[in-house]
Amino acid sequence: MTQEPWTFPVAQRLEGVHSSPVRDILSIISRGDVISFAGGIPDADLFALEDLQAAFAHVLAHQGRRALQYASTEGEPELREQAAARVARNVPSTPEQIQVTSGSQEGLYLVGQALLDAGDVVLVERPTYLAAVQAFTLAGARIIGIPTDEHGVVPQELERLIGEHRPKFVYLIPTFQNPTGTTMPAPRRHQVAEILIRTGTVLVEDDPYGQLRFTGEPLAPITAHPGMARQSLLLNSLSKIVAPGIRVGWVRAEGPILRTIAIAKQAVGLQSAVVDQLAAAHYLATCDVDAHVRQVAAVYKERRDAMHAGLPHILPPAATITSPDGGMFLWARLGHGIDTAGLLPLAVEEGVAFVPGAPFYAHDPDHSTLRLSYVTNTPEVITEGLARLHRAIRSHLQEHRISEEPTSNNIR
Ligand code: PMP
Repeated sequence: MTQEPWTFPVAQRLEGVHSSPVRDILSIISRGDVISFAGGIPDADLFALEDLQAAFAHVLAHQGRRALQYASTEGEPELREQAAARVARNVPSTPEQIQVTSGSQEGLYLVGQALLDAGDVVLVERPTYLAAVQAFTLAGARIIGIPTDEHGVVPQELERLIGEHRPKFVYLIPTFQNPTGTTMPAPRRHQVAEILIRTGTVLVEDDPYGQLRFTGEPLAPITAHPGMARQSLLLNSLSKIVAPGIRVGWVRAEGPILRTIAIAKQAVGLQSAVVDQLAAAHYLATCDVDAHVRQVAAVYKERRDAMHAGLPHILPPAATITSPDGGMFLWARLGHGIDTAGLLPLAVEEGVAFVPGAPFYAHDPDHSTLRLSYVTNTPEVITEGLARLHRAIRSHLQEHRISEEPTSNNIR
């Protein structure tokens, strides 16, 4: 006789924390015939496989016993050196200011554990990266969204919300934001930095996409603004520029907070995988990763162009879309009272998937939004995926008796 599963008394902390809808959608659409615009999944054909094979082989051949042993929580010196050199292109940094993490997702979790008490407020962009909200909520935080325009958070709103809530920190993704793909221009970065300095507010700056630029001039992180580095935690990752299966990222910080973050990391996983760290360090030291990123960005640019050019023809007239200069995502607002969570099943039936926008809002979601990733598929497949999405939108509009009048789309 089989017994009922045990009812474990689950921690209250986890009660309000939902599974990531992106991960849930990814498991639904593992069906081979679905064209996925859902996850920010890099094209595996573009991974620098031979260089990475060589890096792992080198590490196991020449540093094998060290690579297989326990090691320090802060990270391997070679990797901290490579990381510090990359960060120092914008913010003067030493290897001691680098805490290695297992992807920047762990960095977000550690920052939450190191800084947050139950009931603390964290200010985030509206909308924002949902797994950051997950990590901060797990640490007991109350998450409040800052209104944004096409240049990122609105400075007056940021200042008002800081005054009202005295947040523990502000979490921003200023470059090629997830989910909108938008980038905060330099003047707005200065305004934001001045407000954070004037109010003595900590910045958690998440920058996994910054180097994946297709068009426009590179911008320094807000952390690079004079006076900001001491009150910022800057997170980077190799996931988007090398490969996400190598779980390597880092937090750049100054002063005693580094020790607190390291203690939090000891409790989470003692250390990151030494094999991954040493192979990543060897790859960064011996290969031209910037040239590799330029090649990848050139391919992604064609895909962004295909999606950006195709979307206005298939979306309802009142829809707006963003115009990303890099990164992986494009954000659409359909309007017409459409709920994209209701559209998704029709889309999957047609053989295409996206992520409905609502979960990216900490509160008061705009249900007519959706996130589309353009990096995984070729332009031809993107065109086919958009045709499928068009059919799904048409049947959704008919089902809900929403009329569709042909006018031009407002692109932003
Ligand atoms: N931050 C942002 C904004 C992201 O989009 C992601 C990945 N989707 C992460 C952090 C985490 O990435 P990883 O842990 O692979 O570095």
